[in-house]
Amino acid sequence: MKAMMLKAANTPFVLETVPDPTPGPGEAVARVLACGAGLTIHHTRAGRAPVSYPRIIGHEITGEIVATGQGVTELKAGDPVTAYFYLTCGHCHWCRINRETLCENFRGYVGREVDGGYAEYMKLPAKSFLKLPPELEWRAHPAEVGVICDAIATPVKVIRRARVTPQDTVAVFGAGGGLGVHMVKVARWARARKVIGVDVMASKFETCVKAGADATVDASDGKVAEQLLELTGGKGVDVAIDFVCADGTQEAALKSLGRGGRYVMLAGHGQPFTADPGQFLRKEIELLGSRYATRQEVLDSLDLVARGELWPLVTEKVPLAQAEAIHQRLDKGLITGRAALMIG
Ligand SMILES: [Zn+2]
Repeated sequence: MKAMMLKAANTPFVLETVPDPTPGPGEAVARVLACGAGLTIHHTRAGRAPVSYPRIIGHEITGEIVATGQGVTELKAGDPVTAYFYLTCGHCHWCRINRETLCENFRGYVGREVDGGYAEYMKLPAKSFLKLPPELEWRAHPAEVGVICDAIATPVKVIRRARVTPQDTVAVFGAGGGLGVHMVKVARWARARKVIGVDVMASKFETCVKAGADATVDASDGKVAEQLLELTGGKGVDVAIDFVCADGTQEAALKSLGRGGRYVMLAGHGQPFTADPGQFLRKEIELLGSRYATRQEVLDSLDLVARGELWPLVTEKVPLAQAEAIHQRLDKGLITGRAALMIG
């Protein structure tokens, strides 16, 4: 099969022909139709996430099962699938209570610890493939369907984690980014009273508004909290969702929160910050971390898209051979929403 290989940290992809994967016991192999390209996996391409080389990255796939190994009963050839990003055990306390992103036996990520979707075929533990609902038009829209498992599922989890209701005003920090713009979409879907997109790249604001933002705040002047307070009549926002967690966003987010405010942090490479404990007490502020989504949240997200409730934003679709060019654009923050590689 053809595969885009990473051979060393922060070096360009190399297109190679490698042996097709064959499934061992408990494993399955899918033919990959499309694979999303976002900032999370660009960290691996850029050498910021350690992996053993050579490695094939990518996890936001639309695929079709072509072979299953011994003991696999839940999948068969022809099943359309996507992938669950985390390699979890499925039987620890946290996996059992549907909080598997806290798995005690966490083995890492698809496309980091095991090969991922930048290839014509992809082998995973069978339980890492999730079957697509029959109503989802995966053949017609493999790029959009592929990115649901992260770009939609991660925001869907945030809505639940922060208990966003139709009474809430939501500010999204980093709203112009690939996940941020989907967070805006999902907050709009959740009927938030007001959705405000915050970003330093004003060029992304039109996309934020199209995604459902009622207002945008240019963070480049450093007066984000003041602008958010003004937009909320001095009350402050109910939920601040931060995909940046650096350069003062944490302080600004906390300052912008009103009574009962919830602050959700999602950036794994963020910086330390200082906060006033009195503010936490007076306003009963909640500080929440949120990482990825559970299998059920991925399945719920697939279902929401199948029902026409949400639709992912994929603005660039290129052949597998152009992966490096797409990652160069990701590196410069030039991709709007998500990009995807069209493979099968
Ligand atoms: Zn577990």
